[in-house]
Amino acid sequence: MDETVAERVARVLRNNKPDLPRLNVYDERYYPPSSTDLELALRYFIVLVAMDHRLSRPGHPYQACLEDGCYSGADLLYRLGMRILHENPDFYSPEHLANISVDEVKKLFSAGDSSPPDPEIRALLLRDLGCKLLKLFNGSATVLLKMAGSRVRGSIFEPGLVDLLKVFRAYEDPVEKKSMLLTKFLTARGYFKPIDELDVAVDNHLSRIAYRVGLVAVSGSLWNKIKSGVEVSSEEDILLRLIVRRAYKIVSQKSGLGTGLVDDFFWIMGRTTCFREKPPICDKCLFKGFCRARKNNAFMVSEHVYYNTWYY
Ligand code: SF4
Repeated sequence: MDETVAERVARVLRNNKPDLPRLNVYDERYYPPSSTDLELALRYFIVLVAMDHRLSRPGHPYQACLEDGCYSGADLLYRLGMRILHENPDFYSPEHLANISVDEVKKLFSAGDSSPPDPEIRALLLRDLGCKLLKLFNGSATVLLKMAGSRVRGSIFEPGLVDLLKVFRAYEDPVEKKSMLLTKFLTARGYFKPIDELDVAVDNHLSRIAYRVGLVAVSGSLWNKIKSGVEVSSEEDILLRLIVRRAYKIVSQKSGLGTGLVDDFFWIMGRTTCFREKPPICDKCLFKGFCRARKNNAFMVSEHVYYNTWYY
């Protein structure tokens, strides 16, 4: 991790703070209206984030045009999630989730020619979620949230939200991508008021940008794997994402901006500027003055490849 680059990134963000884009967690195309009953809203976010991984695969983009527009990736997943919420809110009840079938997951989260990959894994994650909500939290996401108090991470006697979530297979990731994403949503909506700082949710966009801009420098055979798109091992994947997470935490601390804002900014940047599939729009980028990949094309890599996971 290059602290000098983190310092420069942090300075740029601090200087542009008023203009940094934020995720609108009240966009009703993707998220429940603010008037939604708390338990239902919590269930919605816990379920959707649990399924929010690896939606597109090479040659199989998860994208479709619905009656109100065309959507892809996570946008399509949450758009379909909202359609289900309007039509059948009981879909999100732990009793229903505990018995959900692969066919139902496939049917409800498919549109046009697109289906999410691994419906078997997604159904298993939802059944696990439903069973454990029933057995451990009295069937209530609100009980889970109350048990966490205001702690992101706690102790064995007073667990935090991330500790409690680890009991679910969907949230067991050691780098805590889904847990951090869920915590960010719940915090931004005012359902959770953390007393300790979150980490960023390390996804492909944040990893790619970290390697390109120079926040994280990788060498040797691991760098060769990243450059040539060879799949890394599970251990390498975890190590890489932990370093990336640490780098953005330092950016957050040095900039004085919360990790939620930093996470939002780089996630939006990965979707709008520093693309994976097409050339990045470097002229519009805040970091064009010192970005390592802009100076030297050898660093214009994609994120590291690790397909076989439901963690992100
Ligand atoms: S300058 Fe270009 S490559 Fe570098 S971070 Fe910005 S958009 Fe990405």
